[in-house]
Amino acid sequence: EPDTIEIEDLRVTFSGGVQAVAGIDLSLTVGETLGLVGESGSGKTTLAKALIGLSRPTSGRVRFEGRDLTALTRADRLWLRRRVQMIFQDSLSSLSPRLTVRKLLAEPIVIHGLDKAERWPKVLDLMARLGLAQAQLGKFPHQISGGQARRVAIARALVCEPSFLIADEPTAGLDVSVQGELLNLLADLQKRFSLGILMVSHNLNVIGRVTDRVAIMYLGKVMEEGPTRRVFGGPRHPYTAALLSANPVIDPEHKREKLVLAGEIPSPSNPPSGCRFHTRCPRAQARCRTEEPQLTPAGNGVRYACHFPLESAS
Ligand code: SF4
Repeated sequence: EPDTIEIEDLRVTFSGGVQAVAGIDLSLTVGETLGLVGESGSGKTTLAKALIGLSRPTSGRVRFEGRDLTALTRADRLWLRRRVQMIFQDSLSSLSPRLTVRKLLAEPIVIHGLDKAERWPKVLDLMARLGLAQAQLGKFPHQISGGQARRVAIARALVCEPSFLIADEPTAGLDVSVQGELLNLLADLQKRFSLGILMVSHNLNVIGRVTDRVAIMYLGKVMEEGPTRRVFGGPRHPYTAALLSANPVIDPEHKREKLVLAGEIPSPSNPPSGCRFHTRCPRAQARCRTEEPQLTPAGNGVRYACHFPLESAS
């Protein structure tokens, strides 16, 4: 599968024993947007960083174009940066303060040894699509707004036409109106460049609006995964159901059975036995404390990991 990133039984354990990613199988294909949802501490950002070689897996593989992204040579890393780009939550601090917007956008062209004369018109086109005036080219990051910085970061990520874009909380910290614009822009760019996007967010409204598929993470594992429409329309996993039923935009009529989460997310250095969600699950029974549920296909493209799932909506 040339245009798919395959994540196989990926684990990332930090020193001190924190299992940030505790065995994950997922795939991401060009042309689709996959949402990665979870509370802070769920391991979603660590998983995303593993795809660009920024967090080092303890075991497992990430396969892409015949290579294993967990074991890259230096030359491979440059290849990977051209194919898979990431925009970070805090765009402003990810942009070097001493470079103008012009230099920030030209830098990837230089790094990858591309023809500047040929690429620059595409950069200007990207800027126009992102609503960035050319007058911004001479400015430094501290002279532009947070929303503009986010757009510059997106433009910079797309300068070399990658196949995949990883967006970590791309709308965090922006006004609601700017958030909506930015999501529309990302959707536009995705279509234009047939990008695969991994969107990492704890914001269910954002995920529900722009993703084709969604994976719900809890303490380093995927609890439920499948087409967003199906997962949001009729979650099988109690954790998904609890997240959704607490969201007034997604469930305005309170049609869903209310599932209320007890307590805080436990420490990932010492996850609960059995089902790692059992300490907070309103449906937990004795079996949940001893036996870990595996991700099971529900038959409609959805997979969930639960011994006592909710009824199917369809
Ligand atoms: Fe809840 Fe048990 Fe299902 Fe885990 S396996 S989500 S504890 S019902």
